[in-house]
Amino acid sequence: MPELPEVEITARLLDRALAGASVESVLAPGINTLKTFAPPLAELEGRSLRHVARRGKQFIIGFDGGLALVIHLMSAGRLQLYESRAGLRDRTSRLLVRFTDGRELRLREFGTKQAAWVKLLDEEALAGDEALARLGPEAWPEPPADLADRLSEPRPLYAALRDQHLIAGIGRSWVDEILWTARISPFKRGADLEAPEVETLAGAIRSTLAGALEHYEATLELPLPDKLPMPLLVHRHGGEPCRRCGTTLESVSFEDYVMSYCPTCQTEGRVLKDRRLSRLLK
Ligand SMILES: [Zn+2]
Repeated sequence: MPELPEVEITARLLDRALAGASVESVLAPGINTLKTFAPPLAELEGRSLRHVARRGKQFIIGFDGGLALVIHLMSAGRLQLYESRAGLRDRTSRLLVRFTDGRELRLREFGTKQAAWVKLLDEEALAGDEALARLGPEAWPEPPADLADRLSEPRPLYAALRDQHLIAGIGRSWVDEILWTARISPFKRGADLEAPEVETLAGAIRSTLAGALEHYEATLELPLPDKLPMPLLVHRHGGEPCRRCGTTLESVSFEDYVMSYCPTCQTEGRVLKDRRLSRLLK
C-alpha cells in the first residue's frame, strides 16, 4: 500500500526522468480504471509531460496545454517507467502512457480487484475534483498547525491519522511507525491528547515521513521494483523485539490488516487483544 513517502519518491523519480518527454499515445486497458470521459485520452497525444507531482496519496501528472492525469494506486497499484512497451496481454496493465522516445509509463495493478483509478482533467478542474477537494492538508513536510483540532474526536489515533480528510498521506504502515516514534498509544482518542502530546505527535509525523523519504532518496532509483522495500521498524514486525526497549511488539488483527505497537513504549504495558478491541470499536 503506497503512502505519502512511497508516492512522493515515485513522483520525484518519474519527474526527473520524464519532464519534457513527448506523448505518442495513451491507452487504458483497465476496463474500470478511467473515471472521466471528457477530455478523451487522445487529447494527450503530442503533448509534453511537464511534471509528475503528488497530492496526498495521488499522483498528478501535468502536461502542456493545461491537462493533468490524476492517478490513485489504491492498495495494489504501481506506477512504473519502462524502456519498452508492454505486450497487450499483460493483464496487470491499467493505463499505458507511451512516449515518442519508446519509453512507457505504466499503471499496473496486482490481484483480482480493479480499484486503482485515473482521471484526465483540465487543470482548472483539478481543485474542484471531489477526490482532491476533500483531502485534508498534507502530513509532510509540515503537519497541519491545527493538528489538535483536526484530531479532536472520539476515534482512536490509529484510525483518525489515516483519515485522508483530516490529514493527507498517512496509511496503515506509517501510522504504526509514527505512533511508536511518538510513544503514544494507537488506541488513545485524539480528543484526549494533551498539548505536549500533540507537539510530540507532530514531531513524529515530521521526522518519520522525512526519514522515510531520505531513505528512499538514498536507496531507490528507476526502474522501481514491484514491491518497494519499506524501512519499517514496527508495522509488520509483531512478535519481534522493540528496537527501543526490547519488549515483544504486539499486533492487533483487523479484517484486512494488522496493526503493531510496543506495549512498554506505548500502552503502559497493556496488551489489547483483538476481541477487546473489536468491542471497543463498536
Ligand atoms: Zn518499546
